[in-house]
Amino acid sequence: MSAPEASVQVSFKNRAKTALADRTLKIAIDRTTGTAEAKRAVAVAAFPEFQDARARGRAIKDHVIAYLDHYLEQFERNATASGAKVHWASDDAEARAIITRICLDAKARLVTRSKSMLGEEIGLPHALADAGIERVETDLAEHIIQLAGEAPSHIVWPAMHRTREQVAELFKIAHHPPPAADDPATMVQSARRELRAKFLGADIGISGSNFLVADTGATCTVTNEGNAELTTTPPRIHIVTAGIEKIVPTTAHALSLLRLLVRSATGGELTQYTTFHCGPKRPGDADGPEEMHIVLVDNGRTRMLANEFREMLRCIRCGACMNHCVVYRQIGGHAYGGTYPGPMGSVLTPVLNGLAGSRDLPNACTMNGRCAEVCPVEIPIPTLLRAWRIRSWRERLEPGSLRAGIGVWAVLARRPGLYRLASRIGVRAIRLFGKGGWITRLPLAGGWTAHRDLPRPTGRTFMDQYRAQQADKGDRP
Ligand code: SF4
Repeated sequence: MSAPEASVQVSFKNRAKTALADRTLKIAIDRTTGTAEAKRAVAVAAFPEFQDARARGRAIKDHVIAYLDHYLEQFERNATASGAKVHWASDDAEARAIITRICLDAKARLVTRSKSMLGEEIGLPHALADAGIERVETDLAEHIIQLAGEAPSHIVWPAMHRTREQVAELFKIAHHPPPAADDPATMVQSARRELRAKFLGADIGISGSNFLVADTGATCTVTNEGNAELTTTPPRIHIVTAGIEKIVPTTAHALSLLRLLVRSATGGELTQYTTFHCGPKRPGDADGPEEMHIVLVDNGRTRMLANEFREMLRCIRCGACMNHCVVYRQIGGHAYGGTYPGPMGSVLTPVLNGLAGSRDLPNACTMNGRCAEVCPVEIPIPTLLRAWRIRSWRERLEPGSLRAGIGVWAVLARRPGLYRLASRIGVRAIRLFGKGGWITRLPLAGGWTAHRDLPRPTGRTFMDQYRAQQADKGDRP
């Protein structure tokens, strides 16, 4: 866990409040998530076997999770046979140390990187900076947020919190020369011009991996911009970072999951670039790195194997759950504070950073179930969030006032007569706070009434009406 992440977890509510007041942020999120939602719906409708493919995707992931040790060892044997060097990192600190050591041993001054959320998870950008190594992000969205000095706000569209107009302003300042116009094509050309020299001058290219193929030892990377290929091919050394759950038995299994991943992430049928890296350059190869290192990262994943969050290891990082989440779509990704935002992040962040500092995240959910409906590998995210809430209660992490309130409610809920009496008294008491048919302030419910007025209860309670109705029925012949 990196220190900045630990501190931001504490202020989730403040971050959410700031995000809610940012109208530009709302415009940016609505544009991207709205498009993503619509495109996914079209892609799924055009793929009649989608539900069967989901069941197959789930079965593939469940199988490899059950035999993780077997497939990881097979992968290591085959990757080593193809000339790659495999490293094992038990946590983020070890992963950072391995990668920094490879860079320093190679006397690397410039490193290019293609988008990898695992790199963010292990704090790689900070580690490279601390080692005095220049890092250049080559994914267009990552390029934008690197220029802005920000963290990703989405796992597929890291710069989705920025509008096109804001990006144009950024490029005008940071690109030399600045783009001649602010239409998307001209801005992309400008970014391409900025990055091209970096691609060709890099000492090391670092990529993530969408799949690790056990029976060939290959790593598979998918992008829509081709930047991963330019990151991994020209430099002398290629480093791959991958979570151990990315393993699949064969290329056919990777392709089955790829069909789900692309449709769920971008609504496409296939990514523009799908590349399998199988060892470094061989004699006779026209290009490719002289060395290939694969860093396999655990960082809490084997702990998840043995607990109630095991199903989360099926995640293929498509981002569909956040695109369809009513909370994410209001506050964006930065409010969540961790590497992974949205519903999947609310499950993973407590695993990575501990529950005490991220207790708010499992509660930032309406339990509407949309995330589970769209998840291509059928992860029951609301159930997992509820599991965190249960743990939080058992570990007594809630404020005393909340525990006391729930305790009182639990006493009443177990005694129906007392519950009805309390409801009747409560409703009458609440009426005292109403003005002109609305309640604008309510003791113990300031969190609600600060943002919305409640209608003042009128007439009889539901239970009173129900009783009267039953009595009427009883009177009838
Ligand atoms: S939890 Fe499911 S929907 Fe969310 S990113 Fe992972 S695979 Fe995609």
